[in-house]
Amino acid sequence: MQTVWVLGAGQLGAMLQQAAYPLALRVIPLDPDDRNLPEIGDGDLVTAEREQWPETPMTTLLSQHPNFVNADVFWRIADRFHQKSLLDSLGVATAPWRDVEAETASRELHDALGEKVLLKRRTGGYDGKGQYWLDRAQPQPVPEDWRGTAIAEQKIPFMEELSLVGGRDRDGKKVFYPLTLNLHSDGILMASVAPLSRVNHLQGQAEAMLGKIMDAMSYVGVMAMECFRIDDTLIVNELAPRVHNSGHWTQAGACVSQFEMPLRAVAGLPLKAPEVRGQSAMINLIGMERETRWLEVPACQVYWYGKEVRPGRKLGHININHPETAPLHDALTALRPLLPEHYGKALDWVAEAL
Ligand code: AMP
Repeated sequence: MQTVWVLGAGQLGAMLQQAAYPLALRVIPLDPDDRNLPEIGDGDLVTAEREQWPETPMTTLLSQHPNFVNADVFWRIADRFHQKSLLDSLGVATAPWRDVEAETASRELHDALGEKVLLKRRTGGYDGKGQYWLDRAQPQPVPEDWRGTAIAEQKIPFMEELSLVGGRDRDGKKVFYPLTLNLHSDGILMASVAPLSRVNHLQGQAEAMLGKIMDAMSYVGVMAMECFRIDDTLIVNELAPRVHNSGHWTQAGACVSQFEMPLRAVAGLPLKAPEVRGQSAMINLIGMERETRWLEVPACQVYWYGKEVRPGRKLGHININHPETAPLHDALTALRPLLPEHYGKALDWVAEAL
């Protein structure tokens, strides 16, 4: 069996491992802080389930291996300054932005970007962490600790948030999943719905954007592009050079999941345009105790990551999938009393989107 080492040992690595079995690949996720360094064979492959990592003996070993796929991509995407510069250089629409330098005044940022400006940490921000709003109506200087470590973005008055997950192999063949509609709350993904016929007309636009980005970096694997929609225009919020939470529904709703796809790509196995099965929705399980009765709900597939419960932490997800929409509505009704009360809004949002 060929071995694929994965930098990162979170739920994404675990789900890559699950997807590897039918391909007869041996996927081994590795914790960056693990001091037990593995023996990596010359023919083994190395990939990552995260775009940033601390410098440790483990990450040095993996990231410097000659078979580390996309070695030159991660730093460009992990740092928002480089990611936004890349999008600009490719002419791919993204929220207008400025670099926040040591001397940058908030007045300059408002003059360039408007009344409300969102500071985002160049690195390390995720799930809405690492964001800070500046409002001209309540003037304040750029906080000291954001200078030189952030970019500033225009506030985008988006109608909705859509994401696209695509795969690319070494020969440049590209495949895409259908656009996914996402609901965020406090910057963290709560729920997704796909496919949605009402956004079919945006699929070509999204594929052209992500295709251009993947080609420009000779990318091999799966990449996710999160977008804001304004009327019929998509603008990129951010990229992830890996499997993505908004693609989890593909475990139930596509013949090749977003976890199997990058393994095929890195191992040189054929990519196939994913045939989508029925209607899917995904609910993230955030900061709550496990409820085993989720497992009884028809049309649902439950993933519980076995992590320590902490507020705001992603602990699992539920994929709801069925050829028809009515059973999805039934599943939402059955799940409602089994989820915390504040999930009501997310469940209503899914029901409305279906
Ligand atoms: P991010 O961490 O960049 O994915 O941002 C998390 C969430 O914050 C997004 O999903 C949006 O809901 C919101 N957000 C991010 N950037 C902007 C922006 N430029 N304008 C308005 N909302 C934003």
